[in-house]
Amino acid sequence: MNYYNFTELYISEVFQGIQGEGSTTGMPCVFIRVSGCDFECTWCDTEYAQRRGNGKLRSRQHIREEVAAVTHNAYIGIPAVLTGGNPCMYGDCMGKLIQKLLRTRPVILETQGSQWQDWVNTCSHIVIAPKLQSSGMLPHTQESLPQFLNSVRQHPSVELKFVLPHDNPWAELATLDPDVWRTRLRPGSTITFQPIALPDMRTDELLTAYRAFQDIIYAGPLYAELQPDYNIRILPQLHRLVWGTQRGV
Ligand code: SF4
Repeated sequence: MNYYNFTELYISEVFQGIQGEGSTTGMPCVFIRVSGCDFECTWCDTEYAQRRGNGKLRSRQHIREEVAAVTHNAYIGIPAVLTGGNPCMYGDCMGKLIQKLLRTRPVILETQGSQWQDWVNTCSHIVIAPKLQSSGMLPHTQESLPQFLNSVRQHPSVELKFVLPHDNPWAELATLDPDVWRTRLRPGSTITFQPIALPDMRTDELLTAYRAFQDIIYAGPLYAELQPDYNIRILPQLHRLVWGTQRGV
């Protein structure tokens, strides 16, 4: 399932905000959230973007005008984050949009790594968030992720982000082929570990979960193994702590 032949994109929302996840946490960005995803994760926090039909069909020109509008034409250069849904559901149309965006700003791709597109390596930074056991999508991840990682191996800026149960993250990580990070990720890359933030969790519950989570990550044997070669980040979702489940921030 993909939308390779589409000439326009289904867009859920375009907004300016602070990046709340991963190595660029805190960075002002303009977010382009596509509609449509090939996964149905049990804890998806953007269910409204899972189905293509929930978005609005937009031309590339229209999307660039929305980017200019939400940034008040003033913030040339702040990164554009392609997120979703899964941006890799879209083929050449997305590739052409990226080329236009790159004339004025870096482009960061966020995807689970389930669908390859030839334009992926044209992005300035690639964040791959593999979905593991708790998402219900592990079999699909096992099938597609190794090839996706091989295909971005020469890219200079790739990051892995794992969203994991706060009380048992290593058990979840153990379900993934260890070759994923030992042989397919360039040394020096960032690996982010982030606790799952369920929609009904209060801020105090999120912080309690984060405190337990970071303790467990530090204590894991794989952490000691990975730490010398990679930039490890253990982070909560900043936007969840500040804005809860509010959209468009
Ligand atoms: S891959 Fe992302 S957008 Fe798609 S269902 Fe999973 S969490 Fe939601």
